[in-house]
Amino acid sequence: MVNKIFPKTILNRHKKRDDWFLDDYSLNPYQLCEFNCIYCYTRGSKYGENMKHGLTVKVNAPTLLERELLKRSKRKEYGFIALSSATEPWMYIEGKYGITRKCLEMIAKFRFPVHCLTKSTLIQRDLDLLKEIDKNAILPQDLSNLKHGVLITISLSILDEKIAKIFEPNAPKPKERLETLQKVKEGGFYAGVAYIPVLPFISDSDEQLNEMIRIAKEFQADYVFVGTLTLYGIGKELYYKILENHFPELVPKYKQLFRIFNQPNKAFQLRLEKKAREFCEKYEIKYKIL
Ligand code: SF4
Repeated sequence: MVNKIFPKTILNRHKKRDDWFLDDYSLNPYQLCEFNCIYCYTRGSKYGENMKHGLTVKVNAPTLLERELLKRSKRKEYGFIALSSATEPWMYIEGKYGITRKCLEMIAKFRFPVHCLTKSTLIQRDLDLLKEIDKNAILPQDLSNLKHGVLITISLSILDEKIAKIFEPNAPKPKERLETLQKVKEGGFYAGVAYIPVLPFISDSDEQLNEMIRIAKEFQADYVFVGTLTLYGIGKELYYKILENHFPELVPKYKQLFRIFNQPNKAFQLRLEKKAREFCEKYEIKYKIL
């Protein structure tokens, strides 16, 4: 069942621009997500056990956005809008409700730049509108060198289809996502891959990182983000249940790695960053957008 709500606001302004994604705003046309990834950080919420049950459409999102962007554009407060930070904007129900598409129409109307973050093949439906935004968006002055009003980042955590099915049960297959990236690149967009989260002991070996970055290059990505897993609350419990069922030998290793914090320890993160930078250099692909 899909819930419907009429929120009072839709555009979140960040206190500080995100260093990786370059967004000053974020916009979530839906609440929670049909793709149901086991590692999704939104599982910390009360809907964590099965995210499909809390699936919600923000019916008036385009109307609110029109009002909010009008105000921001009058003050010339242009900045990238992350679409989205806490849901999948092109999940299956978007095919029926079209809320993301209508929000993009507002973004085009007020000439804001947008950073699309997705695992979905459905983004291909909106490449026409995104092209218009890419050409006409007004960039914040300090990002004017970017010369693109649209950034498209396709998200993956693992290339192996069987393991992806365990951790991202309803999302399009990794190969379909890479093919989407190819279509996006053929459309002339600036686009990359977010390998977030890389799964400790499952998709983080040197060989796997090498292959992930090599493949991103093969599919013409301009940049690659590599980031680790965050586990907390009910999401952590669910993730551990999945580990017990599919990778029981990894449970003690995870307990050690996540013993103190919600993320792997510093040494783990430094090694991941070092390797990712090394392979990005090897394949001549950017480790960050800027
Ligand atoms: S696609 Fe993104 S928002 Fe949806 S469940 Fe997966 S990680 Fe969460």
